[in-house]
Amino acid sequence: MIVMKFGGSSVKDAEMFRQVASIIKDRIEQKPVIVLSAVKGTTDSLIASIKEATEGKFDSYTSIVENHTKILEDLGLPQDLVKEELDELKKALEVIEKTKEESKKLLDYISYFGERMSTKILAAHLDSTQTSSKSYISGDIGLKTDSNFGDATMLSGSFEKMNENISKMDHVPVITGFGGKDENGEFTTFQRGGSDYVAALIGSAVDAKEIQIWTDVNGIMTANPQVVKNAKTIPILSFKEASELAYFGAKVLHPKTILPAIEKSIPVLVLNTFEPDNTGSKIVKETEHKEIIKAISYKKGITVISVESTRMLNAHGYLAKIFEAFSKHGKSVDMISTSEVDVSITIDNDENLDLIAEELKDIANIEVKNNKAIMYVVGEGMKHRPGTAGKIFEILGKQDVNVEMISQCFDEISIGFVIDQELTEKALSALHQEVLE
Ligand code: ASP
Ligand code: MG
Repeated sequence: MIVMKFGGSSVKDAEMFRQVASIIKDRIEQKPVIVLSAVKGTTDSLIASIKEATEGKFDSYTSIVENHTKILEDLGLPQDLVKEELDELKKALEVIEKTKEESKKLLDYISYFGERMSTKILAAHLDSTQTSSKSYISGDIGLKTDSNFGDATMLSGSFEKMNENISKMDHVPVITGFGGKDENGEFTTFQRGGSDYVAALIGSAVDAKEIQIWTDVNGIMTANPQVVKNAKTIPILSFKEASELAYFGAKVLHPKTILPAIEKSIPVLVLNTFEPDNTGSKIVKETEHKEIIKAISYKKGITVISVESTRMLNAHGYLAKIFEAFSKHGKSVDMISTSEVDVSITIDNDENLDLIAEELKDIANIEVKNNKAIMYVVGEGMKHRPGTAGKIFEILGKQDVNVEMISQCFDEISIGFVIDQELTEKALSALHQEVLE
C-alpha cells in the first residue's frame, strides 16, 4: 500500500483532476490510498465566508459554488454531486448571519467543506473512468481527535480503527485531509496545511510502503530556484536535514507534519503533479547519502539584537534573564552567539523592541540592527570533516561579504551565519556555485 496526498494546487481545476486521476491509475498496482486537500483557494474562501456572513454578504460562498460547478461541468459529472454539501454550507452561513457566532468549532466545521467536496469529485471522476473508487471523511473511518478545534490532536486507537477499515477496501479510497472528528462527531482540523499530517497518520496506520506528497514543485531544492538558476532537486535527505531546511526557506512541506511516518521509518517522497516523471525528493529517517553540503537556505528580514554588558556572562542567571524578556513579549529567537561581553540574538524584523529594551536596560546596553539575513549551509556529511567552515567563509570573503554572526551546533548538521540582507543573492549564488555545482 502507498499513501498519495495531493495538495490544493494539484486539483485546482478539471484538467488537474484528470491529471491526478492519471497519476493514480499509473500506480494502481501499488494499492494507493488517496488523501486530498480542498480545491485551491477553497479553504481561504470558506474562512472568509464566515466573516462575510456576519455582514450579510455571501461573495465567497458564491465563488465556491461557481468553482465547483465549473469543475463538475468540465469533468462531465452530475451537477448535484456536491449539492448536499453546498446546501448545508449555505444553511450554516445563514445561521451565522443571524447569530453572528464565530467560534473555533464553527470555523473548523465550515473550513472542512472544501475537503468534503474535493474528495467526492475525485472519487466520482475515478469511478466514471474505470477505476473503482469511493470518497471518505477521515473522521468516519477512524481518525478521531480531541476537541481542540483548529489544532486538534489524534486520539489513541485511531491507527487500529483506520487500519481495520482501510485494509478491507477493494477500491481506491479518497480520504479527506486537513482533520478528523472528535468524539461527539464534530469536524476538527489540524492546523492549516493539515493534509500532509493526515497523510502521515494514515500512512502510519496502514504501515504504507511509502507516502507521496504531490505538490507543485520538483521536491526540495539545493537552493531557492528563483535566485539560483542551477538549483537542483535533492534526491534524498534525512529528516533532520529536511527540518533544518524547512525552517529557513524551503517551504515545500513542514517536516513536523510527517514526523509520524518518519518515526515508523516510512519514506516520504515530495513529487510534482505537474511533472510526474520527475523523481522528486525522498525524506528518510536516516540516510547513507551524507554529502558534505546538500543545500543552502536563507531567511531575509532578520533583526540582530546585541545585548552588551561588561559585568555579565560569568554571572549565573544572566542568559535566563535575557531570554525571559524575549519570551515574555512573545518573540521567538532564531540564532544566538555569545562572547564575554555580548549576547547577540536574531529575531524576525520587528520595530517594537522597546518593551524588551526597557526590561533589559538595567543590566545591559541594547543595540538593534535591522535588515539582516540568516543563511544556513546544511548537510549531515559535515560531521567530523575539517575544512567545511573554512571553505564557506573563504568563498564569502572573496565576495566581500562580511559575516556578522556565526553559529554551528555540536551535531554539525549546519553552519549558520548572518549577513547584510542586500548581500543575500550574491552570497547564495557564489556559495552554490562553489560547493553545489
Ligand atoms: N485545505 C487545508 C488548508 O488549506 C488543508 C490542506 O490543504 O492541507 O490549509
Ligand atoms: Mg499544503
